[in-house]
Amino acid sequence: MAEHRSWTRVRYESPAPGVARVTLARPDVRNAQDKRLLYELNQALDQATQDDSVAVIVLAADGPHFSAGHDLHDDEEMSRFEPVGCWGGFAQPGAEGLVSMEEELFLGLCWRWRNLCKPTVAQVQGKAIAGGLMLVWACDLIVAEEGASFSDPVVAFGVNGHEYFVHAWELGARRAKKLLFTGDAIGAQEAYELGMVGWIVPGDRLEARTLEVARSIAERPGFGLKLAKQAVNQSLDAQGQWEAVQAAYSLHALGHANNMVRYGSPLHPDGAGMIRRQSAGAPEGAP
Ligand code: ZN
Repeated sequence: MAEHRSWTRVRYESPAPGVARVTLARPDVRNAQDKRLLYELNQALDQATQDDSVAVIVLAADGPHFSAGHDLHDDEEMSRFEPVGCWGGFAQPGAEGLVSMEEELFLGLCWRWRNLCKPTVAQVQGKAIAGGLMLVWACDLIVAEEGASFSDPVVAFGVNGHEYFVHAWELGARRAKKLLFTGDAIGAQEAYELGMVGWIVPGDRLEARTLEVARSIAERPGFGLKLAKQAVNQSLDAQGQWEAVQAAYSLHALGHANNMVRYGSPLHPDGAGMIRRQSAGAPEGAP
């Protein structure tokens, strides 16, 4: 498959035999995810999936932070992109357009990436906030630098959490509620103790250590890796993960719709200020 030379938001590299690395490349806006970034990321992950010489995919990010989440200033029309899901009606008024768009861009793409047939390894530095945490959780394994932190503060916007709602599966029910109710970040050490993060490394070793992990996985038979990934994912499916994620997305859509009726915006008007005040106060990653 030919490499896309026109990408402006992601970079595709082959840093070692059997390993593809896709890097979010918008450090000037803390890798905020606009539609263009998400579709380029999807194309890059597809390219790695379809390249039979690639066994493992690393998802990395430029700059001091992995990703600040969705780009709230993204105003490109959906019509400029080719949808990969089966939803339409993105320009419809009322709740319909937004619900359809988020189904395609956020829930749909994350679930698609969760199901890529090859192992994926997230390489995380700095903050992974809301939509940033979604990308991390869609990967199979996580390598984090010591100062990395993970948060989903969007209850402040009057919704239940980000659209790919696997919080209780990743953290356990009570820790998930603490994360959501308080908006506080989880530090790398706690994420490691929870089993969410697999490796913690000093920042200057992050790229090299992630590559070592990926290379070591890539030495195993590719089909065995695919079967192992699918077997674990199917175990989650058998426990109802997909049904639970879909149900939670319906609640997310309800939260946006309520905000639209009450405040004329899908986001609660106090949300941005609340999140800003919080991040200026408590030390990052404090449990
Ligand atoms: Zn949303």
